[in-house]
Amino acid sequence: MQRTTKIVATLGPASSDPAVLNQLVAVGIDVVRLNFSHGTADDHRARMDNLRLAMGAQNRTVGVMADLQGPKIRVGKFASGKIPLQPGQPFVLATRCELGDAGRVGLDYPELVDDVAAGDVLLLDDGRVVMDVAEVTIDEIRCTVRQGTELSNNKGINKQGGGLSAPALTAKDKEDIRTAATLKVDYVAVSFPKSGDDMRRARKLLTNAGSSALIVAKIERVEAIQNLEDILDASDGVMVARGDLAVEVGDAAVPALQKRIIRMAREHNKFVITATQMMESMIHSPVPTRAEVSDVANAVLDGTDAVMLSAETAAGDYPVQTVEAMARICVEAEKSSEISLEKHFLDRVFTRIDQSIAMAALFAASHLHVKAIAALTESGSTALWMSRLNVGVPIYALTQDVRTRYKVSIFKGVYPVMMRQTGHDRDQLLHEAEEQLIRAGAVEPGDLIVLTIGEPIGTPGGTNTLKIVKVGETHTAIN
Ligand code: PEP
Repeated sequence: MQRTTKIVATLGPASSDPAVLNQLVAVGIDVVRLNFSHGTADDHRARMDNLRLAMGAQNRTVGVMADLQGPKIRVGKFASGKIPLQPGQPFVLATRCELGDAGRVGLDYPELVDDVAAGDVLLLDDGRVVMDVAEVTIDEIRCTVRQGTELSNNKGINKQGGGLSAPALTAKDKEDIRTAATLKVDYVAVSFPKSGDDMRRARKLLTNAGSSALIVAKIERVEAIQNLEDILDASDGVMVARGDLAVEVGDAAVPALQKRIIRMAREHNKFVITATQMMESMIHSPVPTRAEVSDVANAVLDGTDAVMLSAETAAGDYPVQTVEAMARICVEAEKSSEISLEKHFLDRVFTRIDQSIAMAALFAASHLHVKAIAALTESGSTALWMSRLNVGVPIYALTQDVRTRYKVSIFKGVYPVMMRQTGHDRDQLLHEAEEQLIRAGAVEPGDLIVLTIGEPIGTPGGTNTLKIVKVGETHTAIN
């Protein structure tokens, strides 16, 4: 059985070696994530070069996502690298402090003093350290440590409940967007967006840099939850960024939010990635915990397009085994995923011709129990719409556009198939489609398939035709 849920693997020191990258591609990663919080443009370029070699050698398609650092607010450095903390002790976050000591440390975002007030709660180091704000002056935030035993250099700071003013795109992000464009990445993830406008700004910068990458909003701020509809409208996909989200909204609120974000993303025809600590223990263990197995399986049952690995593949001891384990869990969970089209169909609203064809194809496919759906697509949109509902039939996105082939690799249940440039002859194109599907092992002569195509051929957004055919029976071979 083919896995429908896609796997995103973050690259880092543990996975940059060509031999490891080769193995990761062989065991089935669908997308790699380049984390722009770490490494230089040259590091990312070298990883992409190695990835391209691995893809070429194995004839596989793996998409590439650049993940921008965003305005992560951090403490500065300590003279001793780290300091011990004790609950009840006073501690100062100061805008003017070169090197920290036992009682104070600097801040990389001096404006934080304007965003917090006495009574607020600050969470440092992903919530391991909790500080109550006692008093704020023009250059100091005076706190009392509530929880935590240690604080080290450059740890992140979040404010419980949200309300930080830092803009979503920093000067570094803008530079990184230009780098991502030159690297020709397929997706760009924006960290800490608060509104649709943050995403629109990111898209404009990308377009100006010459990139048509799909944009992904990382949902990790309270404001992003409040503005989810607007963010979904402005983005191509979203990420449930559970690390920072848990710090802002409280960890117990995250599972329900995950379900809501996934459901809303699918209803808005957007893709969704579930991220962070999915297989965390496998950073140092060859097997996952029972809780991690359940977590990955539940994300699959929630309907996520992709599950993401962070440190597990970037810095862990078992990157390849982690992907293998994750793939195995996904396949098993997919066996019990709900396949029920009619119920969801009633709620769908579509007014476009191409969307109507996509829905009609799903309806026919689920009733006729076809072997495959083949969407001949320029932009990948038809395949995306089809994959928002689960009919239990693989969707092949057949495209002549190299960039589309990579973009669709993150959509649940969608598999890219490259078409040769066969011009605009309809019969020749349909014949080529069947040939490629047979070559990919997707179908055999005599299998029933549903095909969608746009006529005249070659116009993006022009899907207007649905065909139900037996492979090999309707088109005469044309060469
Ligand atoms: C997260 O916070 O869950 C996340 C994915 O973001 P990052 O790993 O970039 O901090």
